Amino acid sequence: MTLSFDPATVAIPRGHHIGGQYVQLPGAEIEVLRPSDLQHMGMIADGGEAAVQRAVDAAKKALAQSRWAKIAPRDRAAVLMRFAGLIEENATYLGQLEAMGSSRLISMTITRDAVRTAGVVRYYAEFCDKIEGTVTSTEANALSIVKHEPYGIVGAIVPWNFPMITAAWKFAPALAAGNAVVMKTSELTPHSLLALAELAARAGVPAGLFNVVNGYGHTTGAAIVRHPDILKISFTGSTQTGAAIMTLAAQSGIKPVTLELGGKSPQLVLADAGDIDVVAGRVAAAFMDNAGQVCTAGSRLIVEDKIADELVERVIARTKAIKAGPTWDEATTFAPIISRKQLERIDTMVRASISEGASAVTGGTVLEGRNEGSFYAPTVLENVSDDNIGFKEEFFGPVLTVRTFADLDEGLAQAAHPVYGLAASVHTTDLKKALKAADSIEAGMVWINQHGRGPEFTYPAGGYKGSGFGKDMGRAGIEAFLRQKAIWANYA
Ligand code: NAD
Repeated sequence: MTLSFDPATVAIPRGHHIGGQYVQLPGAEIEVLRPSDLQHMGMIADGGEAAVQRAVDAAKKALAQSRWAKIAPRDRAAVLMRFAGLIEENATYLGQLEAMGSSRLISMTITRDAVRTAGVVRYYAEFCDKIEGTVTSTEANALSIVKHEPYGIVGAIVPWNFPMITAAWKFAPALAAGNAVVMKTSELTPHSLLALAELAARAGVPAGLFNVVNGYGHTTGAAIVRHPDILKISFTGSTQTGAAIMTLAAQSGIKPVTLELGGKSPQLVLADAGDIDVVAGRVAAAFMDNAGQVCTAGSRLIVEDKIADELVERVIARTKAIKAGPTWDEATTFAPIISRKQLERIDTMVRASISEGASAVTGGTVLEGRNEGSFYAPTVLENVSDDNIGFKEEFFGPVLTVRTFADLDEGLAQAAHPVYGLAASVHTTDLKKALKAADSIEAGMVWINQHGRGPEFTYPAGGYKGSGFGKDMGRAGIEAFLRQKAIWANYA
């Protein structure tokens, strides 16, 4: 079966998806382009406060009429299981939409992204009847009851780099916990989430429980955060936007937030890491996958000096073996950058890093020969000091900085970052060193002898420090959408 497809044949959703149907509302028109060739993909409107209000009205009605939070948990699970099944049945269409409209490659979007999205929904469907409180006898004639309750209406805001998956990490647990959702994805990648909302309605998720509003962050996104009837915000995106959202949430009713933010994740490679070619493959994939547009991208290589030259040489060889091309061609292995603006941002930062003393041993420019789209050459920077922008800032592109160390303690000191603490990996065949590193690195996720992989759904994903707080996925992912109520009953 070939996965390649002709973009002209794919139906593009329009509007917002509110109250179980597509809705056209007035608002500034936003043109969505395909990152591979910067051609027109579709139009959406900036919904702003009006669209958010309409979604909140639909959510209130749906919660009241469906009694979603009060029906038998098994019934809620059955609806979500049907939704997961429909996602799988429509994986090809969803994968095509995702590949056209984002940086994700068709070799990944059908068999991985769409299938994982269904998996996330199924994983949380299975939680519906496992949300258990406790009852304790505290003294004679008294009971202490702790129950978990949904918030009611929750808001979710997600970025463009894995549009379906990052969205599912939020809407699936929110719905399973008994909430209604008002959500927004990036204005750059709106289409696959609209299609998911349509499938939810077709699966029997009560109309109004899963609402997708489109628009810019500072208008529609901010309207979600501000709305007084939206009682919790779950956000994935940049650290800068996360800070703005936290401030706005504090000013809008002391609203709790979950923040999944940016990173500058180290790959710490020891001389005893094993087959150097295998290690080079891991290191290269960790910064080039999705052209580095991965929150956990391994953007800082910290390598023991004994193997540094050889490892870097082999990583550079990998950068030459990529095949950049349209996201809808299954032969493509290297993704475009999401937009021209983001491409220019990466290029400006790389130039700044070089002017501050770094040297590009490969790349450092837009990718030659692919000027119809938005492609940046895989770039490896050396001589990046602590005050260089290449060390300080998240590029969110295919850029790797390299530093060397003489012993593990020095390497661990280099792995630390003053702002970010999202993820890290350590590569060594010495279990003691691996565990020492994993134990001491300040990051929410640490991988040993791999980077960026893990059990599909069960691990709690999220960062430390400027990379945010709260978790997506795992049990913590659904607890984020529940409140605890303590009831103390004296029946004397
Ligand atoms: P972004 O912060 O610019 O935007 C994210 C979302 O927030 C978008 O939907 C945007 O429209 C919205 N937004 C922007 N300003 C807003 C405001 N003032 N109020 C409300 N909403 C607003 O991020 P991006 O450029 O779309 O995505 C890239 C960033 O996301 C990177 O920093 C990356 O590391 C991070 N990310 C983190 C994770 C994680 O799990 N930690 C996962 C994926 C991406």
